Amino acid sequence: MFRPGTDETNVQYEDVLCNFCRRAWDPDDPARPLIEGHHGSHLCGECLSLAYLAIVHEGKSDHQPEQACTMCLEAREDESWRSPEFSDAVLCRRCVKQSATALEKDKDYTWKRPSA
Ligand SMILES: [Zn+2]
Ligand SMILES: [Zn+2]
Repeated sequence: MFRPGTDETNVQYEDVLCNFCRRAWDPDDPARPLIEGHHGSHLCGECLSLAYLAIVHEGKSDHQPEQACTMCLEAREDESWRSPEFSDAVLCRRCVKQSATALEKDKDYTWKRPSA
């Protein structure tokens, strides 16, 4: 997501916020990369780690029928993680897995999926 009032013709790093914690992107922090979803949604590495732990390692799910994933915009049947701070932000299991795989391949970042 973008900070309210962002100039769309001149978007700065600090205008780009993670939808799940609403912190701005810091391009100098290789441990907290930002992944882009559909419709300008974004997910940071820290929120991805929380979601990965909850869904993959702890078997938790905040899934509710009909609620679309913030990143892929699909209302999926699989498990999902809800931001503890912003309850309208949910992330499906597929996006957790895809994001983790993509980030680990990205040489610009040091993100690693959390171990159990
Ligand atoms: Zn975040
Ligand atoms: Zn998704």
